[in-house]
Amino acid sequence: MTDPSPTVLIVEDERAIRRFLRPALEGEGYRVLEADDQRSGLGMASSHTPDLIILDLGLPDRDGLELIRAVREWSSMPIIIVSARGQDADKVKALDLGADDYLTKPFSVQELLARVRAALRRSAAVRDAADGSPVFAVGSLTIDLAKRRVTLAAEPVTLTPLEFKLLAELAKHPGRVLTHKALLDAVWGPSRSKEPHLVRVHMANLRRKLEADTTRPRYLLTEPTVGYRLADA
Ligand code: CA
Repeated sequence: MTDPSPTVLIVEDERAIRRFLRPALEGEGYRVLEADDQRSGLGMASSHTPDLIILDLGLPDRDGLELIRAVREWSSMPIIIVSARGQDADKVKALDLGADDYLTKPFSVQELLARVRAALRRSAAVRDAADGSPVFAVGSLTIDLAKRRVTLAAEPVTLTPLEFKLLAELAKHPGRVLTHKALLDAVWGPSRSKEPHLVRVHMANLRRKLEADTTRPRYLLTEPTVGYRLADA
């Protein structure tokens, strides 16, 4: 018998957090697995192949980053990081290793459930995208990656080649946080990966062309100290 409910693996050594997460996830119909250290987390990830992992970076045996690196050798299952405040460098490392999203403790259960739904939606969309459309649309913004055409409320928007490349990179991963380094590598190449001002300058130009209010962006969202994400809803 196949079980249609997605399975979520929680890798977290703090029992209080697991006890807070499990009923919230089960209440939404997810199956829940728990591991309290890196080693058992990795074991369960490979033996149960969950649909999503919620991962604490500060684990008692080994760094949670090790788990991301190991899982990414064979799987693209979504990984959502939960980290303590002030661990920004680790958060960025985790995203660069292939984590999908992060939450900073303390977080609300609604926020977590929204991130879980979004990550599962994106991974389903990636699976379906084999013959998918190259057109991404959110609100009144449409990005056609094949025709290299961007429209806002059906009006064409003129972008420089670099602006288009930056926007296209975000549109290939809608809703997902991309770090400054990931954007620099993809758009400018690894030799410029220490120059985050390049992203800032071109992002500001993109916002001037795409946002009604650049101080309260609707599409091009800033993730403070980490990077950017393109809104997907
Ligand atoms: Ca911990």
